[in-house]
Amino acid sequence: MDHKSRRAWMVETQLIPRGIKDQRVLAALRKVPRHLFAGESNLPNAYDDMALSIGEGQTISQPYMVAIMTELLELSGEEKVLEIGTGSGYQGAILAELAKEVYTIERIPVLSERAASMFLALSYKNIYVKTGDGTLGWPQEAPFDRIIITAAAPKIPDPLLDQLGMNGILVIPVGSRFSQTLLKIRMTEDGIVEKHYTPCVFVPLIGKYGWERDTS
Ligand code: SAM
Repeated sequence: MDHKSRRAWMVETQLIPRGIKDQRVLAALRKVPRHLFAGESNLPNAYDDMALSIGEGQTISQPYMVAIMTELLELSGEEKVLEIGTGSGYQGAILAELAKEVYTIERIPVLSERAASMFLALSYKNIYVKTGDGTLGWPQEAPFDRIIITAAAPKIPDPLLDQLGMNGILVIPVGSRFSQTLLKIRMTEDGIVEKHYTPCVFVPLIGKYGWERDTS
């Protein structure tokens, strides 16, 4: 099967049956070459229903998790999005297909550099990559219409809430180091509205407003 057919298969067998409905999200997952972000060693499994190791003790998330987090962001194409946890860059590329601008932060330099090279190779011109502690956000670029955190947090980092614009949406896995729940926060005139979604397991968010240090 060629890679395009593998992506179509992934969407038909893993995403639509689990209730992903946003046609723009499904189109982005059909389009973005996940196998390039997953890396050479993951080629046989790149479109399988699982998270995959990308080195440095980190992972590229399961396709369904990428899809549901993206769907929860309700992107129309006009948004300025902040992603914390660039990892392989795959989620960032999906966001770049669906939003106006993507700002993405990764704490491990080798990963942020690799992702930046892939964005360049694939001619993404609306993604900006920074190396550092994403729990501090990107204050110079705030406010953001959407914020997505793709690592497990003990609580929502305060600086990220501060950098979320009015009517903005933030999606984050919150819980213990080993199991979390996906939360969606909407910033309204009357305060924060919080909704809980699926259980999930992410690598830890390490930083000033995350977990203290990496024991993974
Ligand atoms: N979104 C990624 C993708 O599409 O490949 C997957 C992200 S992986 C599950 C979580 C990433 O968060 C790891 O690469 C990890 O190094 C990063 N991370 C953890 N704590 C961080 C922090 N404080 N700031 C930025 N990145 C962080």
